[in-house]
Amino acid sequence: MSTLNPWDVARAQFFEAADFMGLDEGYRKILAHPKRELIVHFPVQMDDGRVEVFTGYRVQHNIARGPAKGGIRFAPDVNLDEVRALAMWMTWKTAVVNIPYGGAKGGVRVDPHRLSPRELERLTRRFATEISILIGPERDIPAPDVNTNPQVMAWIMDTYSMHKGYSVPGVVTGKPVEIGGSKGRLEATALGSFYATLEALKRKNLPIEGARVSIQGFGNAGQYAARIFSGAGARIVAVSDSRGGVVNPKGLDVQRLLEVKKNEGTVVAYEDGEKVGPADVLEVDCDILIPAALENQITKDNADKIQAKVVVEAANGPTTPEADRILHERGVLVLPDILANAGGVTVSYFEWVQDLYSFFWDHARVREELRKVMERAFHQVFDKVEHLNVHPRLAAYVLAIERVVEAIKIRGIYP
Ligand code: GLU
Repeated sequence: MSTLNPWDVARAQFFEAADFMGLDEGYRKILAHPKRELIVHFPVQMDDGRVEVFTGYRVQHNIARGPAKGGIRFAPDVNLDEVRALAMWMTWKTAVVNIPYGGAKGGVRVDPHRLSPRELERLTRRFATEISILIGPERDIPAPDVNTNPQVMAWIMDTYSMHKGYSVPGVVTGKPVEIGGSKGRLEATALGSFYATLEALKRKNLPIEGARVSIQGFGNAGQYAARIFSGAGARIVAVSDSRGGVVNPKGLDVQRLLEVKKNEGTVVAYEDGEKVGPADVLEVDCDILIPAALENQITKDNADKIQAKVVVEAANGPTTPEADRILHERGVLVLPDILANAGGVTVSYFEWVQDLYSFFWDHARVREELRKVMERAFHQVFDKVEHLNVHPRLAAYVLAIERVVEAIKIRGIYP
């Protein structure tokens, strides 16, 4: 694991694009900083009666294009700089797919696997209360991220609603469908990545049938990526989670992987394959590599060992700027996170719209609208790749920054 600071990476990516565009100094200064940062230290009563104090964050990077939007993660190494980076990436992501949101992110420094279900609920409800001075359906709308899920979103929705005295489903997305969630939200990140990949494969003249896929991470994005890509005829040759990975060039049985993950807690327990470390799956022989775990996984130390022809960034920030350059020089096509994983927040947007209208779509409509958004964004990014003759991440940044700057320009600087 690299010790690179994600906020340095996010800012370096932004400055590269700002320099390339010759961005006005004033906008550069505005966008180099998050708009708001909230740090909370809050107590939670544990099951044995002890009181523990946890630290959490909510950062809003920019809200020029609409309410702040972005997930909440629960992880032991969450820190302010990581949340800042993730918030900035959300600003660009919502702009790339052109949905009317700004960018935000939140996190609690905790290993949720060490909490009982009741402790997790108390922690979630107290954190939701602590950040309730920022969140709201017209202000800032959280969603799932690493180690959070529909149940956690339900507790946030319920807590916020209890304070208001009425149900406010639009305060959070990624909820269970029973309380105002959207059909198709669970698999949205992976399905969006899949749609973007199909467009990329067309450009490379590669078929999805028989394509060999390696996936790092088996959580919200990785599990569904395995299902969707294998359902389309691709062969999953490697997967990993935080405990390790499993490789089989003949292909892994996805149904079995899902069962093993559910029952044993890790894909390492899958029987029919070679056991490897969590990061080794990045270097296996494959056509499509899907990093779907954490930041800073593809670095200058392993970028020249990546064998995939296409890298689909389902995770946020998996590739460092140095690794980006190496992959580009080697002709590896990288679908950048702010495009490749935007399907999650796009269906979050659909969920929020459905909540505000109290009118719910069927699964087919969600999928179709998502496909349209992803294809449009893909072509807008790749038109820029061709026009400007730059790598896809830089093209996606230019597109996003133009949209955000345009919004700031039209609104003007207050007062
Ligand atoms: N956590 C997801 C992301 O990083 C989804 C955010 C959302 O739906 O607001 O894009």
